[in-house]
Amino acid sequence: MNTTTKPFHRVVIAGGGTAGWMMAALMSKLLGKQLDIKLVESEEIGTVGVGEATIPALHTFHNLLGINEAEFMAATNATFKLGINFEGWKNIAQDYFHSFGSTGNDHWSAGFQHFWLKGRAEGLAKTYTDYNPETVAAFANRFAHLPRGGLNYAYHMDAGRYAKFLRAMSEGYGVKRVEGKIAAVLQDGPEGKDGDITALVMQDGSRIDGDLFIDCTGFRSLLLGETLGVGYEDWSYWLPCDRAVAVQTAAVREAWPYTRSICHPFGWQWRIPLQHRVGNGLVYSSKELSDADAPDVLKRNVEGELLIQPRVIKFLPGQRNKVWHRNCVAVGLASGFVEPLESTSIHLIQRAAIRLMQTFPQGGINQADVDEFNLQSKRELEHIRDFIVLHYTVNERTDSALWKHVREMDLPATLQHRIDLFRETGRVFRTSDELFAENSWVQVMMGQGITPKRYHPVADLMGKQELSTFLGDIHLKVSRTVAGLPQHQAYVEQLCAPYRNATVAQLAAVPLRA
Ligand SMILES: Cc1cc2nc3c(=O)[nH]c(=O)nc-3n(C[C@H](O)[C@H](O)[C@H](O)COP(=O)(O)OP(=O)(O)OC[C@H]3O[C@@H](n4cnc5c(N)ncnc54)[C@H](O)[C@@H]3O)c2cc1C
Repeated sequence: MNTTTKPFHRVVIAGGGTAGWMMAALMSKLLGKQLDIKLVESEEIGTVGVGEATIPALHTFHNLLGINEAEFMAATNATFKLGINFEGWKNIAQDYFHSFGSTGNDHWSAGFQHFWLKGRAEGLAKTYTDYNPETVAAFANRFAHLPRGGLNYAYHMDAGRYAKFLRAMSEGYGVKRVEGKIAAVLQDGPEGKDGDITALVMQDGSRIDGDLFIDCTGFRSLLLGETLGVGYEDWSYWLPCDRAVAVQTAAVREAWPYTRSICHPFGWQWRIPLQHRVGNGLVYSSKELSDADAPDVLKRNVEGELLIQPRVIKFLPGQRNKVWHRNCVAVGLASGFVEPLESTSIHLIQRAAIRLMQTFPQGGINQADVDEFNLQSKRELEHIRDFIVLHYTVNERTDSALWKHVREMDLPATLQHRIDLFRETGRVFRTSDELFAENSWVQVMMGQGITPKRYHPVADLMGKQELSTFLGDIHLKVSRTVAGLPQHQAYVEQLCAPYRNATVAQLAAVPLRA
């Protein structure tokens, strides 16, 4: 397709899940005065209803929208999240924590792991995570905002309430919501095919015309996939889990400030504590567990009264060959999906929304923008895929064919290189646009059982006494910091108390922050 120079004014967002409303909120805040933005959603079809754990980058999105943290947390019953506890992932008996913060003190030439490896070889070092304030705070069930990013954190939140919160904000910025089912998608090519999308036809016969269409219709990808026929790259060889079953339960204990990821022979299980309830689910391979049995297995592995009935969700891990084609951009589940092991999907929506604002068409679609958008999106998801596959492939589990397959499979070359480099040298390098930094790779690689063969020679410049003092000081500082923190739940309650009686719409009201 060549660059087009049509006037550009009407944007139609198809779908009102987390993706649709995140996109609507950012676009309307930035360009709402210039554009006519409509969002179409169907209450009858509903949303995927999961997606409640986030990563710290969400702060960037909220800052762009001017969201007040306490208002957001009250509106979505959110809690703080300091990382993820991986239970039984290396083998049945061993857990590890992937925290959002950095561990110990790095030297410019070498990460902290090199000093820790030497300390461990000399019998001086405690467990690696004892040098990480987020991990120690998480297990002590404590949290507070600390100066200078002292604790790096994200949130657990109610996805349904988050969509309502963003909807109220978007409507405040002028987005028009259309309720109903999309029955047909019209194109302007010969015989109404093979061209740009021109309109959505609703089940009641009404028509919504647009210049740019954002496909947020979930796994079905009604616009980009079904209508424009953009294909899908299947990653199920590396990520064999293809199902999830989810349920909400009443809280039976105080909310803890981390996500639990519990490994099973058939896959894994999440527990996400909110202020008022817990989100639970299994992610599994349909070769190891049947859809008929999965709900019962989940019920046996949760605590507290069930608030809804378990629901099975089918998915195919992978990505669309292009996420922007013609005048249609797919965002959210419509653009691709890797399982929620590191809570990355909402982050990808945020990245797509920001990227689209940065490459927004100027009076027509520019093919160079489209190509750049597609390239960046592809690289981003492949990087995340590698990180997720790492959790699977380095394992010592012997309790199912799934774990044997992922241990023995051929890896993407990019991931194989990272593993080899770390195993041989203890080093991790990150290119500037990658989501996961050295600290994340080190925690997961060591947690899953890779011990580097060597450490950087700079660590040998420290004598035994000096190294002991260096490690001891970091540990003391971490312990003292955490000992001074309040309990997580009490802190959340205090933060949200002023907003307890406000509705979601009041908390999202645009005039408060416009
Ligand atoms: C099991 C599981 C767990 C997950 N956990 C996490 C997590 O912890 N963290 C994270 O970041 N992400 C997670 N995700 C991903 C996250 O749920 C999604 O990225 C997020 O909810 C966005 O979904 P969506 O808006 O793209 O799709 P959906 O929520 O499916 O929304 C689709 C929208 O399109 C509308 N629609 C569809 N067809 C039509 C039609 N014909 N007419 C009108 N409207 C239509 C629907 O009504 C709905 O409004 C998880 C995903 C799964 C499957």
